[in-house]
Amino acid sequence: MTDRLVLKGQTLTFTDDPFRVGPEAAVAHQSDGAVWIEDGLIRAVGPAEEILERAHTASVVDYGDCLIAAGFIDCHAHYPQLSMVASYGAQLLDWLEKYTFPTESAFADADHARAAAGFFLDQCLRNGITTSSVYATVHPGSVDAFFEAASARGLRMGCGKVLMDRNAPDALRDTAQTGYDQSKALIERWHGIGRNIYAITPRFAPTSSPAQLEAAGALWKEYPDTLMQTHLSENPKEVAWVAELFPEAPDYFGVCEEFGLAGPGAIFGHAIHLTARERAAIRDTGSAIAHCPTSNTFMGSGLFDMEGLRDCARPVAVGLATDVAGGTSLSMFATMRAAYEIAQLRGYSLHPAKAWYLASAGSAGAMRLDGRVGNLAAGMEADIVVIDLASTPLIARRMAGADSLWDALFAQIILADDRAIRATYAAGRLVFQGNTKDQ
Ligand SMILES: [Zn+2]
Repeated sequence: MTDRLVLKGQTLTFTDDPFRVGPEAAVAHQSDGAVWIEDGLIRAVGPAEEILERAHTASVVDYGDCLIAAGFIDCHAHYPQLSMVASYGAQLLDWLEKYTFPTESAFADADHARAAAGFFLDQCLRNGITTSSVYATVHPGSVDAFFEAASARGLRMGCGKVLMDRNAPDALRDTAQTGYDQSKALIERWHGIGRNIYAITPRFAPTSSPAQLEAAGALWKEYPDTLMQTHLSENPKEVAWVAELFPEAPDYFGVCEEFGLAGPGAIFGHAIHLTARERAAIRDTGSAIAHCPTSNTFMGSGLFDMEGLRDCARPVAVGLATDVAGGTSLSMFATMRAAYEIAQLRGYSLHPAKAWYLASAGSAGAMRLDGRVGNLAAGMEADIVVIDLASTPLIARRMAGADSLWDALFAQIILADDRAIRATYAAGRLVFQGNTKDQ
């Protein structure tokens, strides 16, 4: 592969936010388009004829009628939990006790962590996900394993060591001081090295003492361009528990605010059961929400208010996330589908352009990566997914009757899975090659 490359196919670029200006004004679609990649960056996107003339010495890969779009971005996932996906019969707090903590204990072993990190990332690429914001475990070695695997694949990935100093098994607890020291050492070792981004990661308020939350806030102040990720208001019992543990705080989000864990670059997973004050405070602090729809239905957590939080006059930043393995799939089609279904249950229809935007540019915004990844546009890093729009006989049949781009994309969201991923590129390099037709 040369470092000058042209991919031919249908192209999809967001020129604006479809929640703000509507789908038609927010998207540029070329049915006979091309993407010109040079030195890992997108140099130009446009009509194939024009691009091929300008990039005449580049090698060309012709993807026919496939859709070429920015790689999907998953702004909340747990790589250590992938092997326990689809575990039966528990809601959040029991789930942690019964499945999560035993699974995460195994990550004290570095070889185990390395194998799991490699498997997780390969599954992401198989699903066209090129960037994620990932929780490791409490073990610093689990973060080393993840960034080693991400670096080997050339991926732009966020990850952090889980901070947990109470209400967890002994083997999974750090202390306020060791959690701070280990996180700081990991930031020094990995943050900004290659494409790696460190995320300061208190699991959620119930598993961190006030001292640990304070230390996490202090660390974020020292390294303000790292991310901060945690969980917020996923489950009613969890919300009640936080109120008991932090009786002085106005509410759950108020706990995070108090300890300096709110602001741009803070990503709050779930955010389902919010008060009016919390909604306003999340927006006003510039914090972002990771909406994790397959997790929310699978765990019976509740129905996220997409319309009230995002499709409104004063929107909150929202990205779309798998939350593997509370979430049930690393497919962004499944994730967008579940987001659509949850919105439907609240009487709101999530337009396919909006769902797609959340799964790429929206999640990039949550991770403060706007302008770098999450869109197919000149100057962006060349993280790209190529989607076969007729990946199964049923989808092919449905496509024959598709009467618009949106109809076609909506049918993909509802019907497609990893078989639709024809290729995934990271920084212009082919990192996954899917089925080439005939299946
Ligand atoms: Zn989670």
